[in-house]
Amino acid sequence: MSATPELLGLIERLECEHSLSEAEYARLIDGRTPELADALRERAVRVRKEIYGNAVFVRGLIELSSWCKNDCRYCGIRRSNDKAERYRLTPEDILACCREGWDLGFRTFVLQGGEDPWFTDERLVPLLQSIKAEFPDCAVTLSLGERSRESYQRLFEAGADRYLLRHETADAEHYWKLHPRELSWQHRMDCLRALKEIGYQVGCGFMVGSPYQTSAQLAKDLKFIEQFRPHMCGIGPFIPHKDTPFRDEPAGSVELTCYLLSILRLIQPNLLLPSTTALGTLDPQGREKGILAGANVVMPNLSPVSVRKKYMLYDNKICTGDESAQCRSCLSLRMASIGYEVVTSRGDPAGGIEGIRNSE
Ligand code: SAH
Repeated sequence: MSATPELLGLIERLECEHSLSEAEYARLIDGRTPELADALRERAVRVRKEIYGNAVFVRGLIELSSWCKNDCRYCGIRRSNDKAERYRLTPEDILACCREGWDLGFRTFVLQGGEDPWFTDERLVPLLQSIKAEFPDCAVTLSLGERSRESYQRLFEAGADRYLLRHETADAEHYWKLHPRELSWQHRMDCLRALKEIGYQVGCGFMVGSPYQTSAQLAKDLKFIEQFRPHMCGIGPFIPHKDTPFRDEPAGSVELTCYLLSILRLIQPNLLLPSTTALGTLDPQGREKGILAGANVVMPNLSPVSVRKKYMLYDNKICTGDESAQCRSCLSLRMASIGYEVVTSRGDPAGGIEGIRNSE
């Protein structure tokens, strides 16, 4: 209890200076109490409202493929999970999802998938060109994992605006515990830097409560984000998947995820912060709690219902049986119930991409 004034002081400083030392971030995490979480949340929401008001941005998530050449230990669609059902959408399927999404008010499409070698640049470039030609008022976000710099450049030139590539952990040793040796932490970090240099709006992020994670590593994640200055940051609780080596590991917590969302809002006030599906999976009110902690984005599913159950990154993922229109209206109602409004807009970061780039 006696630690509270000290930690309140840290929160105050974070709001003013947008920076703490790694040791201080770790202190904030280890010393958290419900009282401190309230103080942090209040400030995060105030800052968020000054910039984004009550608006919640939506992104339509289209899950292109459950094929993956990687073997990440936490992920249900890892290559060695022979129980995973595999599918791949065709470019026509993807365009049909975008059409449905546009009618529902989506102005951002997120094309996410496992690292499926079928999606070569030769196939993605014409797809991106078609999407941008048909929906010039929409942003396209890619989340297709690690590719070469040349590939990122070609996809950017074909019209992709944003790229989501969670760094997963800012600690190289921790990275090895979550991934097989053939994957390299350095390469993933290099990809993030290349994406930013090319001119994408870039999203990084990590799982909260992933196996072996310590508060010192979370503090490193926060420091990395503070210094890298992404446009977006996706964080959500780790949730075990029954057919992975981490099947018996405990899930991360909604409470800590929300606490970190509030810290991230104070680190970078205009950051685009999704309240993730994983939060909604662990707690029926999880996405509302994320928004109430300072998040400002939701990403309902736009994938065809026929494939949704096959994109199972973790157990019990929600919204796999609903039509896109249901997901969209359900989320609008949920946001309205807590005083927020889902808006029809591309949802770019306030201050624009230049605002973020030059603010260092
Ligand atoms: N292939 C792409 C997309 C990966 S899926 C890429 O490599 O970026 C998107 C995110 O889901 C991952 O970055 C990971 O952080 C998250 N994820 C995967 N398995 C998960 C699990 N078991 N629990 C919670 N989140 C998970």
